[in-house]
Amino acid sequence: MAKIMMKTPLVEMDGDEMTRILWQMIKDELLTPFIELNTEYYDLGLEHRNETNDQVTADSAEATKKYGVAVKCATITPNAARMTEYNLKEMWKSPNGTIRAILDGTVFRAPIIVKGIEPCVRNWKKPITIARHAYGDVYKNCEMKIPGAGKVELVYTAEDGSQQRELIHNFTGVGVVQGQHNIEASIESFAKSCFNYALDTKQDLWFATKDTISKKYDHTFKDIFQEIFDKEYKTKFEEAGITYFYTLIDDAVARVMKSEGGFIWACKNYDGDVMSDMVSSAFGSLAMMTSVLVSPQGVYEYEAAHGTVQRHYYKHLQGEETSTNSVATIFAWTGALRKRGELDQTPELCNFADKLEEACIKTIEDGKMTKDLALITTLENPTVLNSHDFILAIRETLEKML
Ligand code: NAP
Ligand code: MG
Repeated sequence: MAKIMMKTPLVEMDGDEMTRILWQMIKDELLTPFIELNTEYYDLGLEHRNETNDQVTADSAEATKKYGVAVKCATITPNAARMTEYNLKEMWKSPNGTIRAILDGTVFRAPIIVKGIEPCVRNWKKPITIARHAYGDVYKNCEMKIPGAGKVELVYTAEDGSQQRELIHNFTGVGVVQGQHNIEASIESFAKSCFNYALDTKQDLWFATKDTISKKYDHTFKDIFQEIFDKEYKTKFEEAGITYFYTLIDDAVARVMKSEGGFIWACKNYDGDVMSDMVSSAFGSLAMMTSVLVSPQGVYEYEAAHGTVQRHYYKHLQGEETSTNSVATIFAWTGALRKRGELDQTPELCNFADKLEEACIKTIEDGKMTKDLALITTLENPTVLNSHDFILAIRETLEKML
């Protein structure tokens, strides 16, 4: 069979530890035998980030803007222990944070559903995709401990010196106070990324805040979403046969639990932080969770939602066998290849991506899986494979399908 050709390069961001090992295996066994891989390679492994003073991370994000699609391996976010381990010049920032800031993007996380790994919520049949706003609110707050009686106010001083004041509270004793902010431009980008991704994946979009209590702050989020929807997306949604649905956050939570899934749930920053952990653990496994960063201009960066699986890497370095699940990383590749195929109008690339995903699912449903899944599957007598043999099993399934 002739190899599939790629018109435009895919931005490839390599990473760290166990996921870096899986990355190479995936390319060797599942991609290059079938595709004439055309990538622009950026090594975001921590050593190379340190050598380039993290310039490589910014360069990879700029390349993503240029070409439109990237695939990223999990990377280490340095902390004090990593400073010593890698002898770092600086505690470099999280690459995901840097890339997200450059692309002004929103992260969408969705579970990969297979028979035999059943969600805790019985009625969930389809994935629930969480979109989390990544700027402001409590994550950029300003807090104060109030030592005793006194008045606390919000004061806005305009550039011309004029002021606006609101009383927060007349304290009669000790207390606490917190100031939060957000920016219209950031909320607009968030809204556009959500509407675009809903159209792209043909799924309904839900959005929820607490606007009945927060009549200015949360209400602004609701209004911005509605204005952008009415102006730019209403007709497109009708044509695609999908809906935009706004409700209160507590009502949304109740409806999500009773739903069968199959929609995107857009969340403010804090709600997204909390709800994404709830949804992902209820679906079964972090190793089966994909993630894509979407910019308001429609630039895409695909990755796995999990980290570099450090504990497995240390075992690997000691020559011990590992059974690390590569599915989310494979789906990062298939997501990126399919998007590249759509943009370049190369249906054979999209078709290959579909087939490779089917092969992953079929392999697991046939009872061949890594240890993390074997521990939670409802299938009887699963075959537990090591990291490499699992990828080989997927290749075998794929070859039969092609
Ligand atoms: P992690 O890499 O997600 O792993 C946490 C644990 O979850 C693992 O020890 C393993 O459990 C299980 N696990 C996760 N992915 C798995 C997979 N594919 N197959 C099997 N088991 C899997 O999180 P971490 O250990 O907290 O973080 C390690 C590094 O990753 C850190 O340096 C962090 O900065 C980085 N990180 C990067 C990203 C990213 O690039 N997007 C995201 C999160 C974390 P068992 O050990 O019990 O088998
Ligand atoms: Mg969290």
